[in-house]
Amino acid sequence: MNYNKKTVKDVDVKGKKVLLRCDFNVPQDKATGAITDDKRIRSSLPTIQYLLDQGAAVIACSHLGKPEPNFEKWVKKQTEKGKDPAELTEAKWKKSVEKLTLAPVAVRLSELLGREVLMAKDVVGPDATAKAAALQPGQVLLLENTRFEKGETKNDPALAKAMADMAELYVSDAFGSVHRAHASTAGVAAYLPAVSGFLIAKELEIMGGALADPKRPLVAILGGSKVSSKIGVINHLLDIADTIIIGGGMAYTFAKAQGGSVGKSLLESDWLDYCNEMIAKAKEKGTQLLLPEDTLAAKSFSADAEPVLCDTMAIPEDMLGMDIGPKTVTAYAAAVKDAGTVIWNGPMGVFEFPAFAEGTRSIAKALADTDAITIIGGGDSAAAVAQMGFADKMTHISTGGGASLEFLEGKELPGVACLLDA
Ligand code: ADP
Ligand code: MG
Repeated sequence: MNYNKKTVKDVDVKGKKVLLRCDFNVPQDKATGAITDDKRIRSSLPTIQYLLDQGAAVIACSHLGKPEPNFEKWVKKQTEKGKDPAELTEAKWKKSVEKLTLAPVAVRLSELLGREVLMAKDVVGPDATAKAAALQPGQVLLLENTRFEKGETKNDPALAKAMADMAELYVSDAFGSVHRAHASTAGVAAYLPAVSGFLIAKELEIMGGALADPKRPLVAILGGSKVSSKIGVINHLLDIADTIIIGGGMAYTFAKAQGGSVGKSLLESDWLDYCNEMIAKAKEKGTQLLLPEDTLAAKSFSADAEPVLCDTMAIPEDMLGMDIGPKTVTAYAAAVKDAGTVIWNGPMGVFEFPAFAEGTRSIAKALADTDAITIIGGGDSAAAVAQMGFADKMTHISTGGGASLEFLEGKELPGVACLLDA
């Protein structure tokens, strides 16, 4: 067992009012507000269903998007974005906040659960407190967007306490938000017994196991756009993994650091020394560090640009690297084939453009075909794997992009640290 926190199974929930923090931060259609992917709502169902079956009353809560609950701050942000201050009325601000209501989530959750889901008009206001007070075992109440409250992202103790006052037990199951110390994700645990739901337990059981006691060799594939967003992950995994594979945009900062010419490729000049330090650390640790030998480059960052194969260390001046090349795919796929565990974070190329998706697709296929334990962390990587039809071939696809990243960096997650130890 790698997970050392209490879960809903370790406490008596019968007859109790349970404040359940979910991750209902679902993507929505900009024009209609319709939920475009309900995966996050679905992944909350096992815990909700369990609590209801055990005779609890569920007060669910979540944030959705980034409403700005302070009018002055909203005006400031919009002005910085270039909007005309004269047009920034209070009515417009209210509309921008109200758009992020959780009401559509209540509807979808009700459909998925096959039972009524009550919706509160506020988070800790008169409507929420009255509905929470009247809630009966087997009933579900969804509070309004927690970020409608100014105190949420500030982890305001008064807000945390007001939320806690509605319930007798706190269950955290919002894996996508556990890296944030907000009132509803961490603060509330100071006022109630706090345990985790099944989603958090599963995420940390699998990912924790892969880091603490991996089936070796442990291969980490790191890609995506920037070195700067993955520095912590590279550094931490160099201590643990047997092989680190680098792809995506960050490969070009590594190539440049090694004396290569990378043309117009994504380059973070501030991180060249860091790349060399990581290369030196890999040598010192005896960790294999693989960089892409060949690259598919293009003259412009566009879907219809013509792919040109070149050496990663010699990308023509007027071109930029868009994907790993076929030699690199073969080398990386071989490393995956012999692995005991593979952790993948970050696409190998600009997979959103079909002409530059092959590197990412081939690595996804290599993961699908291997007998190794395969773990996908990172929002875009998870999207790529799903889009390419390999999702059900993976051992685990994390539901939390930022949270899984911070976990792979070896950071403490405040939304987990605050829970009762098992
Ligand atoms: P994840 O969400 O899985 O952690 P990131 O957010 O770090 O991944 O990176 C994903 C993005 O990286 C994708 O949008 C992809 O287009 C981009 N990317 C991959 N390779 C390159 C490249 N060579 N140049 C520019 N962007 C790239
Ligand atoms: Mg991303």
